[in-house]
Amino acid sequence: MPVQKAIRHLPTDQYEKRPQGTEIDTIIIHSMHNPEAKDRFSAHSCKECLDKHGVSSHYLIDLNGKVWQLVAEDKKAWHAGFSRMPNDGRESVNDFSIGIELIGTEDTEFTEAQYKALALLTKDILSRHPVRYIYGHCDIAPGRKTDPWRFDWSRYQRDILHTSPAVSLIFSPTVATEDRHDKKQARKQQSSIEER
Ligand SMILES: [Zn+2]
Repeated sequence: MPVQKAIRHLPTDQYEKRPQGTEIDTIIIHSMHNPEAKDRFSAHSCKECLDKHGVSSHYLIDLNGKVWQLVAEDKKAWHAGFSRMPNDGRESVNDFSIGIELIGTEDTEFTEAQYKALALLTKDILSRHPVRYIYGHCDIAPGRKTDPWRFDWSRYQRDILHTSPAVSLIFSPTVATEDRHDKKQARKQQSSIEER
């Protein structure tokens, strides 16, 4: 089933028009919860939190993998804030990006359902827009933002390249760091085996 059919709508009025002729070529992954709410992980309480701060995102993915749309893709959501692309230095990333908030905390893992929903949603977005970059909020606002927290970039990249092998994408630099770390770990394990 196309993921679009499973999308729930939770509209906000925190958005504006994109600059005319803008091509959407970037996806920004975020994470959040509402620390003040009784149910800090529900889409509704997270939307309240965004509303309160005068910000928004195109999508929210809750712990059960349900996808909630707050802003239409052709509109500019307010998720990036002061931001700069690491590769080409473009600023005002909201202008040309789609923002996806994964509900979570700094010290918990995202769920299987969230990774699956995110992969489907991403694939869907790739079919509609000429996306070339997928970054985390931390990549476009370093020193100011640390999300998405504990996000498994390697897994996400594998999921996307598996479902959309023809697409040429640049992922968060975090992927390369994780890969290097994995290789280092693998070498370490190998050498300790040799020593035995
Ligand atoms: Zn963020």
